[in-house]
Amino acid sequence: MPLEIVRNDITKMKVDAIVNAANESLLGGGGVDGAIHRAAGLGLLAECRTLGGCKTGKAKITGGYNLPAKHVIHTVGPIYNDGKHGEKALLESCYRESLALAKENNCETVAFPLISSGVYGYPKDQALKVAIDVISNFLLENEMTVYIVIFDKAAYKISEKLFSDIAEYIDDNYVDEHTDYSRERIRMNALPSMAPRTRRKKSDDDFLEICDCKAMLAEDDLDAKLKQIDESFSQMLLRKIDEKGMTDAECYKKANIDRKLFSKIRSDIHYKPSKPTALAFAISLELSLAETEDMLRKAGFALSHSNKFDIIIEYFISKGNYNIFEINEALFAFDQSLLGA
Ligand code: ADP
Repeated sequence: MPLEIVRNDITKMKVDAIVNAANESLLGGGGVDGAIHRAAGLGLLAECRTLGGCKTGKAKITGGYNLPAKHVIHTVGPIYNDGKHGEKALLESCYRESLALAKENNCETVAFPLISSGVYGYPKDQALKVAIDVISNFLLENEMTVYIVIFDKAAYKISEKLFSDIAEYIDDNYVDEHTDYSRERIRMNALPSMAPRTRRKKSDDDFLEICDCKAMLAEDDLDAKLKQIDESFSQMLLRKIDEKGMTDAECYKKANIDRKLFSKIRSDIHYKPSKPTALAFAISLELSLAETEDMLRKAGFALSHSNKFDIIIEYFISKGNYNIFEINEALFAFDQSLLGA
């Protein structure tokens, strides 16, 4: 999955580069900076001494020394004052500059802490939004796997309004499987409608002609519907991509799915994706709830009201919010697995 939010200690991440929320001296400090220097050993400090510091919003790269990561990218986040002193632009620049350095150094996997969200005081929900916005924009143009590493779950929050809206939606909809009528309704709607023959007031010939036409149309309709029943997940996915006028790349990037997995699905018409993967495509294609159910069925799954994960997805689809990164933030906040591969 190109962008993933994980809970971990960044010094344990086995990636090409971890990013350090450093200060301008680059000579170590508290928080994540201290943890990285402790885990990397004195070699890191010695190399940092040669760099001549780093300006806020910029980034510099060193080796990873005793860390499992090959490199450390040091970036200096802004100190949060009141949000009116260019903090956001500087924080965005930290992510952009770090990603550019990672790319220049051929890094395929990079892990970020939530820069500035500790001692520097940037509100965590806003810091996370900046991280997600800049990283997801970068990933539209670049192949890389990027992790946002959240250290302390208690300190992590999505906006309180979103959290309470979703919590309320879960409360309203979290019901026993057997009282869930929505799937039944969707199934009924999916049945081909019958041609209404009885209300005709035209001549007999007209009537027969119309009936024949209707019957043919109904047959065509039924034929198309039967074909769609036989359609596999992969075939439905490719059909929907065409119908939506998207390119393959647009679709898998928006789904936060990596290219290799997409190629696998594309070349194997019987490929059975996991539920999060199937849902990620439904979100990327901006399918309605009924279409989402249909796509899930092709992969052998269904949306259920006895499952928080499903209700959260339903919440976002019903609001017409198809931003997979925002959905993943919310899933993470509710301790659910994330969408994507
Ligand atoms: P800043 O000075 O940029 O605010 P901090 O190190 O104080 O940097 O905090 C940045 C973020 O890093 C905080 O959200 C903090 O919880 C997190 N953090 C601290 N230690 C670690 C760690 N070992 N791994 C990942 N994140 C960490």
